[in-house]
Amino acid sequence: MSTHSCDIVIQGGGPVGLACAVWILQKLPQAKLTLIDRNPINDADLKAGDSRGIALSHGSKLLLDTIHAWPKDGAEIHRVHVSQAGRFGRALMTREELNQNALGHIVRYHDIHMALRQALRTIQEKSPHFDWQHITGDGAFEATQAKCVVHAEGGLFKQQDWVESGKDYGQSALVGLIEVEKAEPHQAWERFTPEGPLAILPSHYGSNTLNLVWCGSPESSQHRLQLSDAEFLISLQNEFGSRVGRFLKVQDRRLYELGLNYRKEIIQDTEVWIGNAAQTLHPVAGQGLNLGLRDAFLLAEKLCRVFAGPPEEQNPRQIHQALEEYAQSRKADRTATIGLTDFMARVFTSNLTPIVIARGLALSALQWLPPVKTALARQMMFGRR
Ligand SMILES: Cc1cc2nc3c(=O)[nH]c(=O)nc-3n(C[C@H](O)[C@H](O)[C@H](O)COP(=O)(O)OP(=O)(O)OC[C@H]3O[C@@H](n4cnc5c(N)ncnc54)[C@H](O)[C@@H]3O)c2cc1C
Repeated sequence: MSTHSCDIVIQGGGPVGLACAVWILQKLPQAKLTLIDRNPINDADLKAGDSRGIALSHGSKLLLDTIHAWPKDGAEIHRVHVSQAGRFGRALMTREELNQNALGHIVRYHDIHMALRQALRTIQEKSPHFDWQHITGDGAFEATQAKCVVHAEGGLFKQQDWVESGKDYGQSALVGLIEVEKAEPHQAWERFTPEGPLAILPSHYGSNTLNLVWCGSPESSQHRLQLSDAEFLISLQNEFGSRVGRFLKVQDRRLYELGLNYRKEIIQDTEVWIGNAAQTLHPVAGQGLNLGLRDAFLLAEKLCRVFAGPPEEQNPRQIHQALEEYAQSRKADRTATIGLTDFMARVFTSNLTPIVIARGLALSALQWLPPVKTALARQMMFGRR
């Protein structure tokens, strides 16, 4: 096997690894950068993919716009209605209150992945030292030696080969596309049920085709996966009620196990972990990819500063120092986002009476205390700055 050397290697061609590569090449076209990608070279050979609907914040849209990687198919969220099934307490957030065009956007994972692959292909033409290596199956590939290794191998909870800090919430998410009778365009619903959050989110297929993320115990979720379409729709209708009229059709049901797995230290010598490789979150607050994109953007900035400098300064000590600055700069955002997501996942799945009451009060407080609501919405839209 031959060996290939470069300055930076990114391991993982998911959304976060791809975005990091594009931001590095945009700032530093001469970068000696290698991307190790387990996905096939041709878009057509990618699995019809991961069709889960992902909520991206306005902050993520602004970041992806800088590299022309905003997917063309997406749906804006103008209102979010939060409630708990059969209990008091509700909150409504609107784009007008926050003075924004949209509270967020729903885009399918596959479309984000494709848009970033295209952005990287475009910038690749102007990047003479960029090497995009596709390693599929057990095929041989060039061993790569790099001054700095960026881990963006991502992964799903319980499918990662590392487990550090975190929590198994004993939950799975059933996702799918549903058709309903009469949904308000651009409206998202988050309903807290005794088993976990149930989110109904807009899609780009039209206002009556919605993305479903239904969290429940692994047993109930597995059972729901196996129900016939008709039985499934009845069970969903019973849980959600009639706010979007009748549920008419369901397709593409899939299950994901949910939990929190995060690294306390995201750097070691000249290696760094970003995106899901650094933290894998419960989707209750829709924050995993948003946080990962912020990781990628800020890391690209730090690395470009080092590798644009004189070669004698590109030594392990300077690289480690840049990574330390990076880790420091990510601390507040990571801690707040991991903490908020963990808090929501735990509080909104508890059935203990005092917590149910506190939860109702919290939702009412959100409704009646606009500054609290705005602060929470801003954290979710832009992260901690
Ligand atoms: C049900 C569900 C709903 C979600 N909803 C939201 C949401 O609404 N909003 C949000 O922001 N986030 C959401 N997330 C989280 C989001 O999907 C992840 O945070 C995001 O996919 C992380 O991107 P990534 O690139 O770090 O990892 P991944 O998407 O896992 O990509 C990693 C890539 O690296 C590759 N790879 C793995 N190992 C190697 C290796 N050794 N060498 C090379 N390549 C490798 C993999 O094949 C993959 O292509 C949700 C997650 C789930 C499960």
